[in-house]
Amino acid sequence: MNGKRVETVRKGTPAHGPVVYWMSRDQRAADNWALLHARKDAVERKCPLGVVFCLTPDYLGATIRHYGFMLRGLEETAGRLAEKGIRFHLLTGDPAEEIPRFVVEQGVSRLVTDFSPLRIKREWERKVAERIAIPFDIVDAHNIIPCRAASPKREPAAYTFRPKVRKALPEFLTDFPPLEEHPFPWKGEAPRIDWEKERGELVVDRSVGEVSWLEPGERAARRALRDFLENRLASCYGMRNDPNRHGQSRLSPYFHFGQLAPQRAALEAQGFDDNLPALASFLEELVVRRELSDNFCFHTPDYDRFSCFPAWARETLNLHRYDLRGYLYSRQRLEEAETHDPLWNAAQTEMVRIGKMHGYLRMYWAKKILEWSASPEEALDTAIYLNDRYEMDGRDPNGYAGIAWSIGGVHDRPWPERPIFGKVRSMTFQGCRRKFDVDAYVRKVREDGRR
Ligand SMILES: Cc1cc2nc3c(=O)[nH]c(=O)nc-3n(C[C@H](O)[C@H](O)[C@H](O)COP(=O)(O)OP(=O)(O)OC[C@H]3O[C@@H](n4cnc5c(N)ncnc54)[C@H](O)[C@@H]3O)c2cc1C
Repeated sequence: MNGKRVETVRKGTPAHGPVVYWMSRDQRAADNWALLHARKDAVERKCPLGVVFCLTPDYLGATIRHYGFMLRGLEETAGRLAEKGIRFHLLTGDPAEEIPRFVVEQGVSRLVTDFSPLRIKREWERKVAERIAIPFDIVDAHNIIPCRAASPKREPAAYTFRPKVRKALPEFLTDFPPLEEHPFPWKGEAPRIDWEKERGELVVDRSVGEVSWLEPGERAARRALRDFLENRLASCYGMRNDPNRHGQSRLSPYFHFGQLAPQRAALEAQGFDDNLPALASFLEELVVRRELSDNFCFHTPDYDRFSCFPAWARETLNLHRYDLRGYLYSRQRLEEAETHDPLWNAAQTEMVRIGKMHGYLRMYWAKKILEWSASPEEALDTAIYLNDRYEMDGRDPNGYAGIAWSIGGVHDRPWPERPIFGKVRSMTFQGCRRKFDVDAYVRKVREDGRR
């Protein structure tokens, strides 16, 4: 594994005891650099290897829609790990307390975790590092080019980030070694996890239901990837901006929960026809745009606040702060899809119902929230609240970057000035009409609702 993936946050000479991977963002046994790193150390020092996941019931507004999907995926992963002689532990509570407690109780000799640029995980890591006395490594198992290695600063836009990505790709886009059976067993009986009970008894918001169209887990994620590459990449991806076509890959929930490595998706996609124009577009989204979001959140800790917008956008939004709004909607009216705009209502309804809004409509949706809210701050809060509550891929750096792009011009440039938006790019209903059959989309959402 490329050493640039690893950041050692706590040094020291490990005693003899199990090596533990605190799994968080990358919830899979296969193609996981953090797990491979932990295993390598455990093999070298002849130690048992375990994976621990700490379930946090109030994680950033997640509901049973997310916990259900996640726990079903983890159940499969725990089984795969057991087949390889790697023990899986499920904890519940605040990781900043539970992980150090576990480390002491189990006599852990080294802790490894996966990288996330989000504040909550970085704060947990900081507290854990303060409370343990063993070596602790953070491994970027999510990005193809490790976030720290991709760029040392916040990139202003895709055009500045793209050349760095292109240059670094040959070094990092390498195949994963398989996960081999671990030869040093963890002594004592493995904890029995009653997954049904965990799902049933978890105290979380259950008012947003689970979805049935998306099968959770590593196996289903690999199947979804093959299906997209074999049946839709060439024929439909070029039309992905039309919400009436099934053009997008729909892989984002799998990436978000770490059930599929973006690196695996890129490797398999490259195995297809190299000259396919759709392949270049897919890789642009999967690698450049996705990793730009991690770059944004990592270098911009206030990624969900007005202050994260570029100076030109803050200035123009401030100048237009008191512009007359044609429509003003409360969060509740928006949540209930009760606006005057049938396209917006349909997009919102689809997100609430199936947990996935089409990518093109996400831009329109967020920009309209800016147009219909009393202030850009309120718009930002509302968009993040709705996105994180209903989208299967919510609470992701892509979501924070996408919303900041839509409302605050992040990664974009100034456009001709308009009311409310100022120089932030706007989108209109008529503009959407020119791009795709808006009526057909609205009809489809209505009909799906009647089924
Ligand atoms: C307002 C707004 C909110 C968004 N919220 C989220 C979110 O919560 N979670 C999320 O994962 N994405 C979010 N996005 C980004 C993007 O819309 C989704 O990643 C994409 O629609 C997911 O569908 P897909 O997997 O079928 O995408 P595909 O088009 O098949 O793309 C493949 C992968 O590339 C990445 N990708 C695609 N578009 C973007 C993009 N614009 N920025 C960064 N990465 C991208 C994703 O990982 C995606 O799974 C948001 C965008 C906007 C404008």
